[in-house]
Amino acid sequence: MLSYQHIYHAGNLADVHKHGLLAWMLEYLTRKDKPLTYIETHGGRAIYDLTDAAARKTGEAAQGIEKTRHWFGTEHPFTLVLRQVAASDGADSYPGSPLIAASLLRPTDSIHLAELHPQEHAALTLAMSPYPAKIHLRDGFDMAHGLTPPTPRRGMMLIDPSYEIKDDYLTIPRHIAKFTRAWNVGIIALWYPILTNKAHLPMLDAMMADHPQAMRHEVRFPPARPGHGMVGSGMFVINPPYGLDVEAGKLSQKFNTL
Ligand code: SAM
Repeated sequence: MLSYQHIYHAGNLADVHKHGLLAWMLEYLTRKDKPLTYIETHGGRAIYDLTDAAARKTGEAAQGIEKTRHWFGTEHPFTLVLRQVAASDGADSYPGSPLIAASLLRPTDSIHLAELHPQEHAALTLAMSPYPAKIHLRDGFDMAHGLTPPTPRRGMMLIDPSYEIKDDYLTIPRHIAKFTRAWNVGIIALWYPILTNKAHLPMLDAMMADHPQAMRHEVRFPPARPGHGMVGSGMFVINPPYGLDVEAGKLSQKFNTL
């Protein structure tokens, strides 16, 4: 039974980290004319109303995107998407990663999104209806195993689990090892929380042993509430695009000002 709903956390500091880097990578990939594939294992609902009671209840967006949008320059691809979504859906709307991808990618690119929660899947399907994306109501890892290696072969995968199942920390390195064997040219980006109980660390150790050339980028921030266990956000990127380290360094400097 899935209980996680991203509306409580949409636009928080972890989203700012993840979505800023995601938008940069997607824009980088589209600099070449060649079509590409975008695979996302855990899609969420793609558009979030930050005035929703759930979003207000945690106040995470108020500490996140509402305080940090100026970090990204006017021409940054994340800013372009934020501006586009504000124009189409209102100033209090926040784009999830599927919408960031669909906004930055081109009609020739292939988009595959999985979402297992029926209500989130229905909302995702509605939000993505203007775009030629394939939406799968199934386990995201199963979907991604079925698609790799994808056609077109260029492209990226975002893995953004809710880590509700504690086994995720054990099974994710195995899934990723299989993805990279099947798709050695794909950019594979895994988001993970930085937790005070350090539950993420064995997973990271396994990932770094398997993929020593990958980029690991982490930012720290104050917990959303006193005693809350998440104190930072991490992105582990296999086959990172050229320049991602520089972009990540700029973001680190911004997070250091919090
Ligand atoms: N990637 C989204 C974004 O950045 O906008 C947020 C995704 S949220 C962290 C995780 C989502 O994964 C939730 O909507 C949850 O319902 C869904 N989910 C949980 N387990 C899943 C699974 N095994 N396969 C696909 N989706 C799953």
